[in-house]
Amino acid sequence: MVTAAPGEDRSPALALVNTRRLTPAGETDDLAAPAGAAAWLREHGLAVADVDLRRLTDLRAAVRELLATLTQGGHPAATAVETVNAAAQADAAAPRLTWEDGPSREWHSTRPGSFDAALAALARDAIEVVTGELGSLVRPCEAHGCVRYYFREHARRRWCSTTCGDRVRAARHQRLVVEQRDGTR
Ligand SMILES: [Zn+2]
Repeated sequence: MVTAAPGEDRSPALALVNTRRLTPAGETDDLAAPAGAAAWLREHGLAVADVDLRRLTDLRAAVRELLATLTQGGHPAATAVETVNAAAQADAAAPRLTWEDGPSREWHSTRPGSFDAALAALARDAIEVVTGELGSLVRPCEAHGCVRYYFREHARRRWCSTTCGDRVRAARHQRLVVEQRDGTR
């Protein structure tokens, strides 16, 4: 079981990007098969009957490119922007105001439960992230070999998880031990 990176609870698009991970055991992909992808969508409140794996992983690659561009500067490939826009338009949805603890906005799909609606919800979230306040918080995990992104809500955070932080500290300690042994310090 993998712990979600900070921000995944606020952004399904961020969670989508992080479905592809590198672990010491190799690459892990939650969306490698239709059943896994359907389970992932269900966990994120986007249950669908049929999954078009290709469109979902194409959207993931496009969103990853947008997040990478946010953190590195420059412009994303035009195809990444087109892919996100096409996905966002796959299903018409209108904002709906709810007022419980305070005002909040939901997107009301015209075809709830369809794959197009799920894809569009992820793409809309991606657009909201990169154009909104959360965009400035997007960071790549700094641990070597980790490819996840997270929202840096605390200024000192540099890793997507305590696992990555521990790994970096262990590697640093190991390096120190070797340097002391070899007399390079
Ligand atoms: Zn990490």
